[in-house]
Parts: sequence; structure tokens; C-alpha cells
Amino acid sequence: MKLTDSIRYLKGIGPKKAILFERLDIKTAEDILFYFPYRYEDRREISKIKDLKEDGIYLIKADIIALGSRYSFKKRFDIVTIVVDDGTGRIDCVWFNQSYLKKSFKIGQRIITYGKLTIFKGKLQFSNPEFELIDNGNDDSLSAGRIVPIYSLTQGLTQRFLRRTIKHTLDKCSFQFRESLPYSLRSKYNLYNSVSSLLNLHYPKDFVSLEQAKRRLSFEEFFIFQVVLLLRKINKKLIKAKPHVVDRDLIKKILRFLPFDLTQSQKQVLGQITGDLRRNSAMYRLLQGDVGSGKTIVAFIAALVAVNSGSQVAFLVPTEILARQHYDKFNNFIKGMLFNKKKVKISILTSSVSNKAMILKKLSAGKIDIIIGTHALLSDDAVFKSLGLVVIDEQHKFGVGQRAFLAKKALNPDVLVMSATPIPRTMALTLYADMDISAIEGFPPGRRPVSTKLFNQDQQNDAYVFIKKELDKGRQAYIVFPAIEDTSSMQIMSAKSMFGELKKNVFNGYRLALLHGRLNNKEQTLIMKKFHNHKIDILVSTTILEVGIDVKNASVMFIEDAHRFGLSQLHQLRGRIGRGVYDSHCLVMGKFDSPISKQRIKAFLENQDGFKIAQIDLEIRGQGDIFGLDQHGILQFKMSDPSKQIDLLRMARQEAVKLLEIDPQLEKKENHIIKNAIIRRYSECVLRQVD
Ligand code: ADP
Ligand code: MG
Repeated sequence: MKLTDSIRYLKGIGPKKAILFERLDIKTAEDILFYFPYRYEDRREISKIKDLKEDGIYLIKADIIALGSRYSFKKRFDIVTIVVDDGTGRIDCVWFNQSYLKKSFKIGQRIITYGKLTIFKGKLQFSNPEFELIDNGNDDSLSAGRIVPIYSLTQGLTQRFLRRTIKHTLDKCSFQFRESLPYSLRSKYNLYNSVSSLLNLHYPKDFVSLEQAKRRLSFEEFFIFQVVLLLRKINKKLIKAKPHVVDRDLIKKILRFLPFDLTQSQKQVLGQITGDLRRNSAMYRLLQGDVGSGKTIVAFIAALVAVNSGSQVAFLVPTEILARQHYDKFNNFIKGMLFNKKKVKISILTSSVSNKAMILKKLSAGKIDIIIGTHALLSDDAVFKSLGLVVIDEQHKFGVGQRAFLAKKALNPDVLVMSATPIPRTMALTLYADMDISAIEGFPPGRRPVSTKLFNQDQQNDAYVFIKKELDKGRQAYIVFPAIEDTSSMQIMSAKSMFGELKKNVFNGYRLALLHGRLNNKEQTLIMKKFHNHKIDILVSTTILEVGIDVKNASVMFIEDAHRFGLSQLHQLRGRIGRGVYDSHCLVMGKFDSPISKQRIKAFLENQDGFKIAQIDLEIRGQGDIFGLDQHGILQFKMSDPSKQIDLLRMARQEAVKLLEIDPQLEKKENHIIKNAIIRRYSECVLRQVD
């Protein structure tokens, strides 16, 4: 039996069982060793029936001495009962609504039951306990008298069968298992070897060994992951790409053109980006910065530099509204600017543009310099003549495949991805280790902090009065709802159903519009245009607002049913206001009953800093989906959780960096075990893959 063999060859597994295992993603002997328990039960102690007490959780081993079942007319289901005896006493075990169990039991059989004791009619009993029958008098030592692993199951597979199969595989194959961490690392960090960690993960000697096993496997996941990402980065830089000519005078000219000065941090980031553009390897850079920190202008200057050097630039954004907004801003911004005596031609490509065929034709003929678009940009008929820079805004809104796809429309174009959901530095350095990272710190000058205030359910009117006061000063407002339409299943207000009421009664005399994702693109565009031009006072909307919208005169936001939003999402929403020179106010209302939602709203009220909010969000809900761990499409952490094991992650990163500094292609003999581990796990191409 080899690790790579199909599980069909394992004892007791035929084609039928193999199909069940496949449902759990287990195809080979090795897969089964990596099918980890999701929890454990301490069943080291076997209790005597005479010692059992109400409410305790016990494991007993006893013989079945009586059995029966009856139908409960009141409850309308079968009740199966057995009486067991272990020599010290007798007790009933009862299962409700599981009539199929009737056939499982025979008098005289030995059984292990595990569960909580309850009292029924003054008598102790196990109700719905876990149980295992001990065949032929053979003690099933895998399920009792030890810390017992609990696996997630699929219908047709039992704990018992899975435990046996895994144990059998461990006994037969674990010695073949190859080490992937060098001895030096294992001894430095006091890590188990791979075989001990696998053995202890399934059948821990004790809880200390279990923790050690988890630690070792987590370290390994982090370490291999880091090495893979760093190798990608190294290898990507080895591939030649066409350098851009960075014209310093041009940049000076652009900066003079701007209605404001770039902040120190923006300048620094721009310097990093132009440094990349100039290099003869492709840029792959992540630009992080809180909402409103001013990422767009930096990306736009980079785009002009690339255009000036003869490239086309693609700007990918997640929504039509954002595409339109960027398009208008960019056009406005370059009005009157000439590049090599020519005007820069900017175009927009979304699913709703009417002259799509023409735009595509111009694009492929090189007659468009900068194209701003939504998913439509990804389609096969969007062909470039000389794509040299790809900018992806709000990158978390796109999948890995989508981001990579755009970059494949040219040979190694420079790629800049932008993210407004900043994550803590250690985390960013590790999770995006294949990229260079820039961050805009702070905000453009003149910003006032947004004051955030919680309104109780009965203060809704106060909130409306407050909004009116701001509107009367000439400001504009957003009112945000979590849903577009009412649904019967959720007790929440929707934008649509509240809109009429708000327009007719509450804000009678003001100009209101309803904006949501189900409006067609023309309608959306029109509404946004009116809002930008202050032809609308209040935008009643959904989370469609979450990304990118930039209207400086809008200074109030009212978020209703705020408990329905995640912390980072609330922060993104709030980022839509406080963009101008006015005092801005975010009003929130919602039901914050659960401890988590209380924590969340408290963090939101007390913090303005997106990095800090991201950190807290991480702590509250674990790794979650903030960074979408499928980012790279190469790894799902099975064992580890980057948000909870920061120290281990940091150590793994340091070691990976050190390793590749000395041996950037893992050519040294002592590093072959690492290389082999990567190949085993991700196939050879990962070592060469560059995108
Ligand atoms: P984000 O990082 O969220 O994409 P934006 O790029 O939309 O932020 O910038 C927010 C606003 O700040 C925009 O209106 C932009 O024009 C303005 N802005 C950017 N940089 C500066 C600056 N250095 N000084 C003043 N305003 C700036
Ligand atoms: Mg932005």
C-alpha cells in the first residue's frame, strides 16, 4: 500500500464506499491521513454505572440486557430503549425518533455509550447518546479509553468506520510519509516530525501532544505557503518585461495640474510605482489604503505615465457607477493636458455602453489609451493593441481568476491592485507575499473626522430631524438599507418599501432618489449624475454605495438595520462621507442583541481607522473572508488560521524569507525536502508559475 494509492485498495473499502469517501474529497491513502478531526472527546475514563450522576457527561461500557421500542402518539415518533448493565448497575439508554436503531441492538451485545445523563420520571437515563457496538467481544479501543477523534461525516459513513480506516492507514502508511521541514527548523522551534504530528492529530496521546501536533502542522502550512508565494515573486522578477519610460517632467507637469498637493505618503507610493514601471520586470503591487485615503489619483498618475510611454492602460472596477465616476473624474482632470502634443483618449466599457463594438474596435487598434471598465473588460472580445498596465480597483470584489485573466491580455503587463479593506501589516506581508506592497498612510489634509452616533429604535425621528438640518445647510445625505426589497423571511426594512414613506412623508419637499443594483445601468448613471450635481438631496440606497462613490457635498449617512452589516462593510459605507470640508455625521440604528453584534457596533462607534477596524474585525470573527483566502487559488489552510496564529505565521515567514535569501531556487541538497513537499502538494508548476 502506497500513500498515493487509491483508497479502494484499503481494507474494507470497495467501489461503493470509495464513492462515499470521494464526497469528503478523499481519494488516496494520503488524503485520508489529512482528513483531520474537527473535534475530540475525552473518553479516557470509563465510568461505572453506579457512579453516574444527573447532568454529567459519561462514557460507559456495558452489556445490553433488555430492549424495546414504542410509538409515542403524543410526540408522533418511535422511542427506542435499551437497558444496559456493567456489573455495577443498570441504566436506560433512549433514542427518540430514530426507529431504524431498533434493528441495531441485540440482547447480550456489548456496547459503549457516551453522552449526557438526564432524569426522566425520577430515573436516570442517557438520552440520544452516541454509541458503538463492540463486535464479537473485541474491544473497540478506537472509540473508548482514549481521546477520541470526531470527523465530519457523509451519509453512509460512520465515525466508527472512518476511525478504523484512518487508523489502519496510519498503521500501514504513516512511515512512508515524508518529512517536509528540515531538522534545523524542527529543532529550532521544537516541532514534532511529520509522522508524530499525524499520529497525534488523529489519536492524541494527551491534549499537550495534540496541541503540539497542531502547531507543527500549522507551521508547516504557513511555511510552505510562504515559500511558494516568495518563489513566485522571485521567479516573476526573473522574467523580462518591457520597461516603461518614466518621464519626470511629465509627472511634475501633472502634479502642477492637480487642484491639490499629493500627501507625503501618496508621493512615496507614486515613487514606488514609477520605480516598478521603469524596471524591466513586471510590476505586481498591492496598494492598500483606507477608504478615502486617495488611492485613485495615484493610480491615475501611474496610468498617464504608462500612456506617455506608449502603453494602453486597463482600469478594472466592480460597478458601473464607479466606472462612470472614474471616467468623469479622469476626463475632467486631464482636460487641456497634452501628451506628446496629443490628447489622452479615455473610454468606458461596461455591459451597458451602446457603442460597444466601436469601442472594442478602437481598443484593438490602439486608439484608446485608458479604458475604464467593469467585468465587460474581461470578455474575450476585449483585445488590446499594447496593454502595458492593468489597474484593479477594489480588488476584493474580484476573484483570483478574473484578476489574472486581465493580466493575460498582454505579455507581462504591469499590474497594480488596490484594496480599501486594509489588513494588518504582518498579515498583509504573509498573505500577499507574492506581491510588493505599498500603503497610503493617513488622509489628504483638511479632512474632518466623521462623528458616528448610535440611535435607538425609538429615536428614528430624531435622526430624520438631524438629517433635515444638514440638508437645510446645503448638504446631501445617504440613507442606507441592507436590502432592496422586503422579504418575508427577514424582519428588516428594505430600501424600496421605505422609499415611498420617506419621500412622501418624512422628507416631503426634499428631492429623493432610490438607487440599487437592480436598476438598469442607465438609470443608475442618471441618478448618480444628478446626485453629483446636487439635483438630488437624499440618496436612498443599498450596499451598492459601498465601493468608491465620492461626492464631497454628501456629509450625512443614516444606516438603518446596521446590525445586518459586517464591521468592515460599515466602515466602507461610512467612508462615503467625510470627503469634503464639512463636518460629517454617520447615524446608525439597528438591533444589537448578540454579543458579537454588540462588539461590532462598539468598535465601529469608537474607531475611524480602517486598519484598526480590520484588526478588530479579524479578532471578532477569525480569518473570515476579509482577504478571501482563495486569493491565490493555491491554498486553503486546513489546519491553521492566520488570524489566530499571528506569531507562528510571523516565524514561518521569517524562516521562508531567510531560506530563499540563501537559496532562491531551493537548489541546495538540504532544501530538497522542502522542494519535494511543494511539488507533492502543489505540483511542479508552482515552482515555475508566474501568474
Ligand atoms: P480611495 O482611496 O478610497 O479610492 P479616493 O481616491 O476616492 O479614495 O480619494 C478620496 C478623495 O480625496 C477624492 O475626492 C480625491 O480627489 C481626494 N484627494 C486625493 N488626494 C488628495 C490630496 N492629496 N489632497 C486633497 N484631496 C485629495
Ligand atoms: Mg477608491
